[in-house]
Amino acid sequence: MTRAHGRGDRVLVIGAGLAGLAVADRLLDAGLRVTLVEPFPLPGGRTASFDVPVPVAGLQPGDVVEHGLHAWFQHYHALHDLMERCGVDRPPFSGPGVSFWNPEQRHMVVPGGPGVWLANALRLPAGARGGRREALGAFGRLIAELGVCFDDPVGTDRHSALSLLQRVGVPEAAIGNIFRPCLYSLTSLPLERLSALELMRWMSRILPDPRMRCVRVSSVRAMAGPIAAALQARGADLRLGVEVTRLDLDRQGRAVLELAEAPDRTGLRHVLVPGFEPDAPPDPAGFDAVISTLPWERLHALGQPGLWRFAPFLAGSFERLHNIHPLTIRLWFERPIAGARESYILARGTLFDVLRPTPEAGSGPDIRLIDLLVEDVESHLPELGYDRERYLEPGARTDAIVQRVLEDLERIYPGQVLGNPVARSFLHTREGIVACNPGVWPLRAPAHIGSSSFFLAGDWTRQPHGVCMEGAVRSGQLAAEALLSGQPVEAPTPAPFGQVAFSVRSLFQRS
Ligand SMILES: Cc1cc2nc3c(=O)[nH]c(=O)nc-3n(C[C@H](O)[C@H](O)[C@H](O)COP(=O)(O)OP(=O)(O)OC[C@H]3O[C@@H](n4cnc5c(N)ncnc54)[C@H](O)[C@@H]3O)c2cc1C
Repeated sequence: MTRAHGRGDRVLVIGAGLAGLAVADRLLDAGLRVTLVEPFPLPGGRTASFDVPVPVAGLQPGDVVEHGLHAWFQHYHALHDLMERCGVDRPPFSGPGVSFWNPEQRHMVVPGGPGVWLANALRLPAGARGGRREALGAFGRLIAELGVCFDDPVGTDRHSALSLLQRVGVPEAAIGNIFRPCLYSLTSLPLERLSALELMRWMSRILPDPRMRCVRVSSVRAMAGPIAAALQARGADLRLGVEVTRLDLDRQGRAVLELAEAPDRTGLRHVLVPGFEPDAPPDPAGFDAVISTLPWERLHALGQPGLWRFAPFLAGSFERLHNIHPLTIRLWFERPIAGARESYILARGTLFDVLRPTPEAGSGPDIRLIDLLVEDVESHLPELGYDRERYLEPGARTDAIVQRVLEDLERIYPGQVLGNPVARSFLHTREGIVACNPGVWPLRAPAHIGSSSFFLAGDWTRQPHGVCMEGAVRSGQLAAEALLSGQPVEAPTPAPFGQVAFSVRSLFQRS
């Protein structure tokens, strides 16, 4: 066990998810030497994916297994800039706009595009959005509320998203058919349990153009891998298959660490990366500073008493935070499903909330692969429970889940699902995302916890975006700034209409 000494130019970054990659990018720019340790055989963290190389777990070579169904939004400036700097293309748009499905209105698509989506939303049937004048009036009042909300984030955060929407008079139909599925898919929380601050944060960013993008191939191949490779070319030392097994702080706030080779806990990871051999753990004594990008649950599990003594605030927070755990399901059908188009569909199924018909690389236009996300395993599938990341092996339990999903899908694609054999399926639970309930904002940790050599990043920390890929990148940048400046760096609170102005920038970005 050895400790990081204090400020100098050798930095250890714990985790090579997007936050870790963003930290490395910023610190390399500043001329520092950066080592990243990552237990996984590939970079990307929660955005990681695998190209299946050999028949395994019912999968076939050529299949891609994603950790999570990921959508990119127009306003992901920090992420897109990072991608651009690393020579990575922005993913293409997924479908023409925002797609909803519900049993009453069936398929509804709000075609996107800068500005025009609002006019298109007003063309939805009144049953889906309420009266046109009422809807427009409430929309205006919601925009006007942005300034008030961001001026007082802690006060705003005490209220639920539902109470805010009702207070400004958003029609019930629009709340139920539009806000509820959209915000559920973004935050995994129903409106009554979601912080009004989080609602406003997402809305202000997405409003100018809510179209989504998605990668067609694995997100590691299309994003995390090339970013990591570009960082390595700039000098980053990336150690895969290496994990922190103990994390403490001494009285001066210096990190006291143990590093070890990470085992393959899911039993699949190392198989999916042929020939993978964990890298050698670096000597923790060789670092002057440490930035942890661990998800808070992991930090909570690894943290030793010194950490909580040094930053008592963290201990109190972690007791009150909780995560929402998703279940990713991939279903390959034997026959294509007519009418399935590549787009994210926000659907109120019994078991899933977001689905995406996914074209497979190299296959024709016919879609046989459907990706689904059960946003909150605990509430949708209490019998499954969530204890850790895991691949769910075929058996009675997965059969029952798949059967319920098929029944849902049959309602969306009548006559095409129940009689269409499932060629293979893949079910996987993953590290969750922090639940942004009312009152959670002040509990999220700042990058700078009072130490001059240990900093925190990760999507769950106090960063100016939603809990998402963009938020992860911004958190990494904030932590890097805190290290470089030696000062607490607060997430900027924009001026009243600043958030909208920021988002409007996205209208002028290349598509
Ligand atoms: C199923 C799912 C769907 C999602 N959909 C979207 C979406 O559509 N759009 C969107 O923007 N966001 C989405 N998100 C959220 C997004 O994936 C995360 O916000 C983002 O990837 C978090 O990045 P991070 O770097 O903060 O954390 P992570 O990606 O979790 O990175 C932390 C890293 O730390 C590593 N680590 C863990 N333990 C140790 C240890 N002991 N030692 C060293 N390293 C360790 C992990 O392996 C990991 O690589 C989704 C998330 C999930 C789970």
